Amino acid sequence: MKAVVKFKKGIGNVEIRDVEEPSPGPDEVKIEVKAAGICGTDIHIYYDEFQSNPPVVMGHEFCGVVKEVGKNVIEFKVGDRVTSETAAKVCGKCIYCRTGDYNLCPERKGLGYGVNGAFTKYCVVRKDIVHRLPDNVDFVSGALSEPLSCAVHGTVEQTGIEAGEVVVVIGPGPIGLLSSQIAKVEGGYVVVMGLSVDEKKLSLAKSLGADLVINVEKENPEEIVKDLTGGYGADVVLECSGSAPGARLSLKLVRKKGKFTQMGLFGKPIEIDFEQIAYKELKVTGFFTQKWSAWERALKLLSEGKVKTRPLVTEELPITEWKKGFEKKEKGEAIKTILYPVE
Ligand SMILES: [Zn+2]
Ligand SMILES: [Zn+2]
Repeated sequence: MKAVVKFKKGIGNVEIRDVEEPSPGPDEVKIEVKAAGICGTDIHIYYDEFQSNPPVVMGHEFCGVVKEVGKNVIEFKVGDRVTSETAAKVCGKCIYCRTGDYNLCPERKGLGYGVNGAFTKYCVVRKDIVHRLPDNVDFVSGALSEPLSCAVHGTVEQTGIEAGEVVVVIGPGPIGLLSSQIAKVEGGYVVVMGLSVDEKKLSLAKSLGADLVINVEKENPEEIVKDLTGGYGADVVLECSGSAPGARLSLKLVRKKGKFTQMGLFGKPIEIDFEQIAYKELKVTGFFTQKWSAWERALKLLSEGKVKTRPLVTEELPITEWKKGFEKKEKGEAIKTILYPVE
């Protein structure tokens, strides 16, 4: 079967290769991939800014249909519509595994970079990380349940947003657009910020329910947030841009005693006025991928129509055109691109 493979460490080293069709072990499920999303992490893997374990089939955001199950699997049957978490391998013994935070297991191997992923026709995963896709969630929407679960983990489980709080979301990329919708569901007053190149994404944020969108190159975000909050600043800032200017702006916009969550990845160390955390007595957190609880919430939000993933999809391509998809993602021209397997 054809697959998008990172075949060697270093910048680039990604190509379409023929790989052997996998078969499930006793506790595994073989899923026929119906749709898979390109993620910012894939671009980081391409540039070797994110550790990978080549040769490896890329792709970690997907959904599909169960094609075969291992002999110990009674939870799923052939034909079930499913999606999967990305914690393909964990040790099961460390403090994080034992307390449900297995996303932080030091031995965690992620799908699509630690072990073979979903930019191909079939993907095999352990049964414990498979989730049933609700009947009313289509495959394209379902492929994005992974970034949605990440956003749920970051905003709901890690940050905790309370009704009436002013929530600033910096960066209207996929995680920003999903987090802003979740913040809205949680009862926040949601302000999404971006640059001139983000105009389309900002209007999408608005149509998906954001209360206010700001182009920080045309308007003064500090003044607007001060006006909104009686001079105090935002209760919550979710930094979803993964850029140094975005992180610096976050520390300016968040109020004393406020919450600041680093949602985006920089891919390298950045320079920031870190002592603002002390001066402002901030609650600072971040998140790494997702876990079972976030998935269950995410799939419920999708099924109930409270959060939408499909409007984020700007392009759909066969996996053979992965390069075009990666380039568009890198240039910021695409929000989400869906790849489909080929024969
Ligand atoms: Zn991702
Ligand atoms: Zn562990």
